[in-house]
Amino acid sequence: MLEYYLLLRSVLRAKPHLRACLTRCRHCRIFFLTHPRNAGRHDLGCPFGCREAHRKRASAQRSAAYYRHPKGKGKKRDLNQRRPRQYCPPQPSPPPQPAAPQPRPAQWSAPLVEHVRMVASLIEGWRVSRRQVLEMLARVLRQRTICRRRKIDQTVAWLNEQPP
Ligand SMILES: [Zn+2]
Repeated sequence: MLEYYLLLRSVLRAKPHLRACLTRCRHCRIFFLTHPRNAGRHDLGCPFGCREAHRKRASAQRSAAYYRHPKGKGKKRDLNQRRPRQYCPPQPSPPPQPAAPQPRPAQWSAPLVEHVRMVASLIEGWRVSRRQVLEMLARVLRQRTICRRRKIDQTVAWLNEQPP
């Protein structure tokens, strides 16, 4: 979190024109950069989970409201009555597929990747692709692991030299 704010601050220092894009999540109050077309808005959800959570909730409310409506209810009844009449021929179960090499599970949520992509594009001044963002994130994560390991190794070496 602190790291994120330090990064945000250094970005804003280097690119003062992006200050106009700085906004705050209306749910969790975190600061984040938004697209220039949303500059000055203060009713946005952050890309770190709030926006998505809010959208899901809104869509659930919409569909609940739809089915509460008499017309929606009728539609649902129709659907329910139609269902048993449908004849489903027995399907032969497909033969087990050999395990295909799975692509590495996505570690990053789509809205987060899109946010990083947008901010990176703003900073760079050209369109950064999703793929580039994923590559960059993978690289950063790898470097961090190496750094952390190095620090542990150093500590172990130090302890060996100066046993407590
Ligand atoms: Zn938030």
